[in-house]
Amino acid sequence: MSPDTRVSPKRSIPFFNYQKVAPTEGTGLMDVIRDVLNRGAFILQKDLQEFETRLAAYLNVKHAIGMSNCTDGLILALRAAGLGPGDEIIFPSHTFVATASAIHFVGACPVPVECGPDHLMDPVSAERAITPRTRAIMPVQLNGRVCDMDPILQIAKSRRLLIIEDSAQALGAKYKGKCAGTFGLAAAFSFYPAKTLGCFGDGGAVVTDDEKMAREIRLLRDHGRDEKGDLVSWGLNCRLDNLQAAILNFKLRTYDDVIRRRREIARIYHERLKAITELVLPPPPDSDPDRFDIYQNYEIEAVNRDSLRTHLSQAGIGTILQWGGAAVHQSHALGFNIRLPFTERVTGRSMLLPMNPMLSDDDVFYICDKISAFHAQGVG
Ligand SMILES: *Cc1c(COP(=O)(O)O)cnc(C)c1O
Repeated sequence: MSPDTRVSPKRSIPFFNYQKVAPTEGTGLMDVIRDVLNRGAFILQKDLQEFETRLAAYLNVKHAIGMSNCTDGLILALRAAGLGPGDEIIFPSHTFVATASAIHFVGACPVPVECGPDHLMDPVSAERAITPRTRAIMPVQLNGRVCDMDPILQIAKSRRLLIIEDSAQALGAKYKGKCAGTFGLAAAFSFYPAKTLGCFGDGGAVVTDDEKMAREIRLLRDHGRDEKGDLVSWGLNCRLDNLQAAILNFKLRTYDDVIRRRREIARIYHERLKAITELVLPPPPDSDPDRFDIYQNYEIEAVNRDSLRTHLSQAGIGTILQWGGAAVHQSHALGFNIRLPFTERVTGRSMLLPMNPMLSDDDVFYICDKISAFHAQGVG
């Protein structure tokens, strides 16, 4: 398809418009908030239970446990799984630092490995990183897409490793009909405002099918107290606020519309940008029958990334580099001292285009026009 050459008036499209995430009056969400406030229901109340039940049903998993955020969720999941000092845990370096910090804060050693061409953990690189101390693999279901789980599960099984998923970016994404977060012993999700299901602050959840894990995580989440309030172990405070839970419970009801819209936007991007040879795009929706991607992010690679970003910024379009443009192992402050050439190539070339349901079709057309114009100039 030839680029759309209409001369579009300049727009302002921030990468993510935080002012627009709060609902307009009339959606019913303000009533939910008012109701929680009127009941004075702030901590561990029925809204949290209802959300946990709805989330577990949505993912087809036995237990969902609301958390203060995804990072805490990962820490408690690792801890409940008995992982700690002396253990090595493999994770893909192209991820948010929180994946590695969770490993660090249970006292284990985070071992970064390469991603593949789709920016998700490379199973071959993961297998190569296994040592006698390796106890677990932490796949990251990045950008709303599930890793190639069959080989990862196979490796975990044959080498007797646990799987704990960082599913922060993948609520509702599927691989062979199974939801992200349901492949291993446990997984954590994030409800940070810019995540596909965002609350109005910090929030997260851990999911698991394992009875013992669920019990242990519930104890750790609430000062080591059981359902009756009896103190049975050491614990922390990693609870999801009841108000945030009520908001999430309300938003989860229409979450499928959010996914549908994100997939539509991905389809438009792909249709309009696929002919540009200087770009590498994410796989379009439905291009792989084994996967259902939910497009938390639309991460592209661009040969001339930095000038493309400048060009788009001058046209009023906000883009970002995921994690500031560095993979975890590139943070020397954290003590890593290895090279992962493929990942470094990806982080050096990739950028995120705006991707959220606040975008109109015209916004997306405008972004595509500007990207096409940049490459048509012959500067890209
Ligand atoms: C957002 C994110 C996290 C952290 O989630 P919080 O809820 O902010 O703790 C962890 N991992 C990945 C891949 C993320 O994108």
